[in-house]
Amino acid sequence: DVDALAAALESLGGRPAIVVANAGTVNTVDFDDLRAVAALKERYDFWLHVDAAFGGFAALSPAYAHLVDGLDAADSVCVDLHKWLNVPYDAAVQFTRRQDLQVRVFHNASPYLGLPSGEPDFLHLTPENSRRLRALPTWFSLTAYGRDGHREIVERNVALARTLGERLSQAPELVLAAPVRLNVVCFTLAERPTRERVHALADAIAAGGETFVTPTVLHGTHALRAAFSNWRTTEGDVERVVEAVLAGVAKTGS
Ligand SMILES: *Cc1c(COP(=O)(O)O)cnc(C)c1O
Repeated sequence: DVDALAAALESLGGRPAIVVANAGTVNTVDFDDLRAVAALKERYDFWLHVDAAFGGFAALSPAYAHLVDGLDAADSVCVDLHKWLNVPYDAAVQFTRRQDLQVRVFHNASPYLGLPSGEPDFLHLTPENSRRLRALPTWFSLTAYGRDGHREIVERNVALARTLGERLSQAPELVLAAPVRLNVVCFTLAERPTRERVHALADAIAAGGETFVTPTVLHGTHALRAAFSNWRTTEGDVERVVEAVLAGVAKTGS
């Protein structure tokens, strides 16, 4: 709600603020109107950070790039690579407009750390000094698949999420909790989606041994979510998930 945000910034009376905008929320992959949020910077002085953990990958596809329109106006952006780039856990990138501030905040000053620093100065850009070379698998993946390869993964995952959404919403026992905007299908029981019943369904699906979906809460309603990001996922997998979910529905009598 950009108007509510403007009112909140107004009420700060010029005190400093950080605004964290969403490019892909976890339950429903909703996007803030980044252009409209960034436009408030003409009237108010704030730092605009965008959480583009997985939503940033929408930029790879001409069909979905409009979702991240305005991302370039942010002061900082984080994108998780261990999600849709399919590289090992905990790899991520941060972009910032103020590398000087980044170094001032995370500068590690200690005599024993008097190592020669390069440009960029990797020793002083993050909270961690000792860390694995996460950049290497990322570089391999980008080199091997390139922009087109990663775009294909994104578009295939989104198409499969839509298929799953359509298939599940055809079952009278189930409803989508939100439209499938990108790669996440958030669904729940059509009748009485209490915590007990939704978790029992999640447990029954997992007990089938074929797949599992994770429980969540959306606007106070208990639901389940399936997030697509794996490079190997195919239509056959979607059918397996549909069957597993329907078997869970039958088993729990939901
Ligand atoms: C995964 C995720 C995070 C957290 O990322 P970590 O890699 O666990 O730090 C933050 N925001 C969104 C939207 C996410 O999907």
